[in-house]
Amino acid sequence: MSHPDAEALQALLGRTARFCRRGQTGDVGTALAAFTDHHVHLHLVDEHALPAHGVAAVVDLGGDPAFFARHPKDGIPHVAYAGAFLTVPGGYPSFESWAPPQIMRIVTSPSNAPGASGGARTLVDEMADAGASVVKIALNRAVGPVFDIATLQAVVDAAHGRSLPVIAHVEGDGMTRLALDAGIDLLAHAPFSEPLDEELIARAVGAGQRWISTLAIHADPAIAISNVTAFTAAGGRVLYGTDLGNGNRPSALDVAELHALHTAGVRGPALIATLTDPWPRPEPETGVATFVPGPPPKGPDGIAAWLGGAVVVPAEELITDGE
Ligand SMILES: [Zn+2]
Repeated sequence: MSHPDAEALQALLGRTARFCRRGQTGDVGTALAAFTDHHVHLHLVDEHALPAHGVAAVVDLGGDPAFFARHPKDGIPHVAYAGAFLTVPGGYPSFESWAPPQIMRIVTSPSNAPGASGGARTLVDEMADAGASVVKIALNRAVGPVFDIATLQAVVDAAHGRSLPVIAHVEGDGMTRLALDAGIDLLAHAPFSEPLDEELIARAVGAGQRWISTLAIHADPAIAISNVTAFTAAGGRVLYGTDLGNGNRPSALDVAELHALHTAGVRGPALIATLTDPWPRPEPETGVATFVPGPPPKGPDGIAAWLGGAVVVPAEELITDGE
């Protein structure tokens, strides 16, 4: 690649960016790798509207494992899932109106015996057998009881024993520290209820923990934004995620989420990387790509709004010139 404009495009948007035109319509624009929303609740979302609004893949972080086990695996959007929330008796989200019983399981013992009723391993095995890519747990001390460290550790060990990472909803004082103590791999929301100190940020980065952003769901995102700023400045990896289904938002890329990430200092190629990261899949989706019509933004400040025009298209439909 030598065209100076193409180099500038990649400096702005990262290495997957290409000038292109759509074979069918002749529209000119920019191609990018396919985008994933890494935190959705599909039972509350119009799944089929997502590709027309830029979302090629989703990760469901709390739903009915039986529904997902039957769900087509190769559609667009591609669907990866956690299955049910694992929580403790009386714990979040067991009392929430949006959380029917089939989207949660109650862990009552740290047992690692296969099939033990309410045992950590039994419930992890159920999700793994339903095809889960990740195990989701609730650590919300702001509203109810949470796992003790022994039971939490048993869940993490059982999940890792099935080669599955563990993702936690952390909310309330000390919950990020508890998640780190137990070796939890990802946080479903960038920590939003307490500012993390330098030591905790360094531990999270050092552990390779990844955070799903979900900055735009908060009435006041200031704490979450400052935590993301510190985490990414120290080398931490953040993935774009909206918690779509929580609140009344269209099934689409969320420009407000992208603006909030930009505000947190996740800009330009780093912002695009939060969308194109294929987690939990090892490889990016290759059959489809992102197409954004029209001229590219003039600078990083314009990227979030510009991405509001993104659509998912078959990769073969995009023609790149002058490669
Ligand atoms: Zn959620």
